[in-house]
Amino acid sequence: MKILSITILSWFALVGSCSNERYTTKIENLKKSIVISDSLELATYAQTITAEELKTHLYKYASAEFEGRETGTKGQRKAVQFIKEYYMSEGIASPIADTSYFQPIPASYFSNTIKGSENVLAYIKGREKPNEVVVISAHLDHEGIKDGKIYYGADDDGSGTVAIMEIAQAFKMAAENGMGPKRSILFLHVTAEELGLEGSRYYTENPIFPLENTVCNLNIDMIGRIDKTHEEDDDYIYLIGSDRLSTELHYISEKMNSSFTNMKLDYTFNAENDRNRFYYRSDHYNFAKHNIPVIFYFNGVHEDYHQPSDTPDKIEYDLLQKRAQLIFATAWQAANMESRIAVDKVN
Ligand SMILES: [Zn+2]
Repeated sequence: MKILSITILSWFALVGSCSNERYTTKIENLKKSIVISDSLELATYAQTITAEELKTHLYKYASAEFEGRETGTKGQRKAVQFIKEYYMSEGIASPIADTSYFQPIPASYFSNTIKGSENVLAYIKGREKPNEVVVISAHLDHEGIKDGKIYYGADDDGSGTVAIMEIAQAFKMAAENGMGPKRSILFLHVTAEELGLEGSRYYTENPIFPLENTVCNLNIDMIGRIDKTHEEDDDYIYLIGSDRLSTELHYISEKMNSSFTNMKLDYTFNAENDRNRFYYRSDHYNFAKHNIPVIFYFNGVHEDYHQPSDTPDKIEYDLLQKRAQLIFATAWQAANMESRIAVDKVN
């Protein structure tokens, strides 16, 4: 594993001046230097992320009981309580205080009439480098009730929420068997995304782990559906941002996919000139703007996007499972590799 850091350092020294050919060689060396940490165990714990459990969680989380989870409403407070109780029942700790999983955001922080809201945080403490943290995030809020109709937000972002719950459980099982991550993993459920990424902005302005110790952010926003482009070949996920700040993170992500999940990684929306500007439109951007490497996992838009018809019966649970397993594998590697993921670019 030592070889990895030497290879990367020498690559940095050369990248500025090297020719295309040398650049290609260096990339090949970088790719070869990525050694998957405990790949057998990784594969075993990834298998505990199941379509069945994701479905059970999502039918609850995107049910009428949570009233569309609009920031600051009764439905949203029920949702955060549900997430908190899940972590307590799984024995997964809070990084804030013993039984307080909430990071309160005061009413004064919001531009409209919201009386206050909260992010929900849980974590697994790293065995060797507990101060360094890999952040896995998804937003917990949605659109609420409009004209008497509940906006269930099963894909947006119930899918990301339940994916984190399953990923956290897999890491917890590993930890109980002595295979806990070397670095800490923060499971960050942010509020007020639909109001303009406000919960994640609040977290990055008031981080529980200092931003300079934040290794990367894997952000999940809509991973349970298929968009029009992929109706014929649905074994895919859009990745956005993976190469923007860290060449190494990009190739780790690719290697995790080719080794475990083997989906088509679609980079269409990662193009610098993409007119949808998705890179700036979900919670990862609040990390990326501080030069923290990110990957945004996304299935693209569909006819039920921001409609009351975004319901849990329309979710592709096998695909949701596979996508969550890829994110788990990438987080596992980021948390367990010898040297911290290197940042070699700026926004
Ligand atoms: Zn969303």
